[in-house]
Amino acid sequence: MEPEVISLAKQLITKPSYTPDDAGCQPLLMNRLSGHGFQGEHHRFGEVDNVLIWHGDAQGPALMFLGHTDVVPPGDLSAWKHDPLSAHVEAGVLYGRGVADMKGSVAAMVLAMEKFVAQYPSHPGKIALMLTSDEEGVALDGVKKFMPLMAKKHHFDYCLVGEPSSSNVLGDTVRVGRRGSLHVTIKIKGKQGHVAYPQNAKNPIFLAADAIHKLGGFEWDQGNDDFPPTSFQISNIHAGSGVTNIIPGELEITANFRYAPTSSQASLSKQLRQLLDEYALKKYDLDCELDWQLSGEPFHCTDKKYKQALEASVLKVAGVKPEFNTAGGTSDGRFVAPHGIATMELGPINKTIHQVNECEKVSHFVLLENIYLDLIQRLLLK
Ligand SMILES: [Zn+2]
Repeated sequence: MEPEVISLAKQLITKPSYTPDDAGCQPLLMNRLSGHGFQGEHHRFGEVDNVLIWHGDAQGPALMFLGHTDVVPPGDLSAWKHDPLSAHVEAGVLYGRGVADMKGSVAAMVLAMEKFVAQYPSHPGKIALMLTSDEEGVALDGVKKFMPLMAKKHHFDYCLVGEPSSSNVLGDTVRVGRRGSLHVTIKIKGKQGHVAYPQNAKNPIFLAADAIHKLGGFEWDQGNDDFPPTSFQISNIHAGSGVTNIIPGELEITANFRYAPTSSQASLSKQLRQLLDEYALKKYDLDCELDWQLSGEPFHCTDKKYKQALEASVLKVAGVKPEFNTAGGTSDGRFVAPHGIATMELGPINKTIHQVNECEKVSHFVLLENIYLDLIQRLLLK
């Protein structure tokens, strides 16, 4: 017989919840959990649906699961082995858009919470599930807005995000934080002129070349035990209008920092400015404009009790000792951790996420459900 976690995952996968459309996923889960005594609160911002569903009260430890119901578009439909909305199981593997990122984890969280409440109807503490339909999109009307609102009404000690963290074996990797992401646009201003009269112009392409070279090898910090050193990457460089006889007056560089908690926007902008000054601006008397956009601050879980509990649950259920790391892009955890909530991430294998033929083993979702259930018990009952 099909495990219940797979039946629920299938119900979610067949809903076309392409970001930011929830397509009825949240009401389905809300109805289901309210049948088990859970309460809920829904907020829609713009086109984005957000819901918090909880059981228990403020007395004792409180754990919140965090997930999203939106998925990325399917891409080339003809390249899929099975329709991405059909939730087809073949040889013990579930196929469909959102299977691994992250409707399967959401189903596992729901089953774990239901089973816990059925066994301990008057448990101490609180368990909750927060869902948004805007994780894969611009992420402005999702957890970023919803979490501050809910943090006024609810206290949580722990948050577990169900993003697909595993690499080869289920449970082999737990994210104990994520790097920050900081965008910067650098406009270096020279002086426009005719290519035949360079003595009357200042070509910012030549004059910025040394600075760009220095930026490539610069050590911004050394990271720490859980974080690699901060990295800086240039994604675009542009100058000139396409005309062949003009020295351009301006050079525009767009770049991104992925940074460890050992750095900050303030420290990075100071270092960047010093480098630009030394190798370009002061040297050649150029003007410069820097435009910053903070996409997410870094977060880092240092709660020993929580880390030990999750490690013990993974070891007991899946038989592997997870590696704690902070690799990968940003996640909605960045909006939860600043509220003083110890935040980690554990989910299925991420090999096929955002690809055609996204899939994950049926057995992994059963393991995941049992890890989540074991974790709830360790945190709330012990
Ligand atoms: Zn995701």
